[in-house]
Amino acid sequence: MRAAVLGSNDAIVSTSSLMLGVAASNASREATLVAGVAGLVAGAMSMAVGEYVSVSSQRDAELADIARENEELATQPAAELRELAGIYVKRGLTPSLALQVAEQLSAHDKLGAHLRDELGLDPEDGARPLQAAWVSAVSFATFAALPIVAMLLAPAAWRIPVIAGVSLVSLAGLGAYGAKLGAAPVGRAALRVTIGGALAMGLTMGIGRLFGVTAG
Ligand SMILES: [Zn+2]
Repeated sequence: MRAAVLGSNDAIVSTSSLMLGVAASNASREATLVAGVAGLVAGAMSMAVGEYVSVSSQRDAELADIARENEELATQPAAELRELAGIYVKRGLTPSLALQVAEQLSAHDKLGAHLRDELGLDPEDGARPLQAAWVSAVSFATFAALPIVAMLLAPAAWRIPVIAGVSLVSLAGLGAYGAKLGAAPVGRAALRVTIGGALAMGLTMGIGRLFGVTAG
């Protein structure tokens, strides 16, 4: 959840900065819109690829753990049973009850018991790279759409203050929400993310204006 809030900050700051930089160079409303949409697509794709790669390597590690556990269960079942019982003793069971629990869970689902209690994996719920990629792309695109929609609704002459205003208000709201989730001071978090966003937008606008002057 907090990762989703951070991702949404990225989406708003990068898309609105891109649009403001292009707008400040005296580019047309259409060029500003194209910059925003391109920024949305590029950001969503880059989030998806990054997430896919990271969750895939997590999945690879899980699969390697499962294969090793399977092999150990096949080659040294007695040692594995003792290992499982030892885990339950550490959690507070008496040795005889721990052994009984380990035996019964092993009779029911040997691999599942080891994955859950030894490796901390949920056999039903492994890492899903494609799902993770899809979720982060959609989340980025949703928040990147905020400055684009704001510009579409604003009169052409007002596009710069409207894009900046909508983005900063959204950042403040998300900052406050993220802080509330983490039980941190709300005002300070909102202020920090708003100032950071304003700096990013102001800097990109300044560079856009400079390039607009020299290139035009
Ligand atoms: Zn084991």
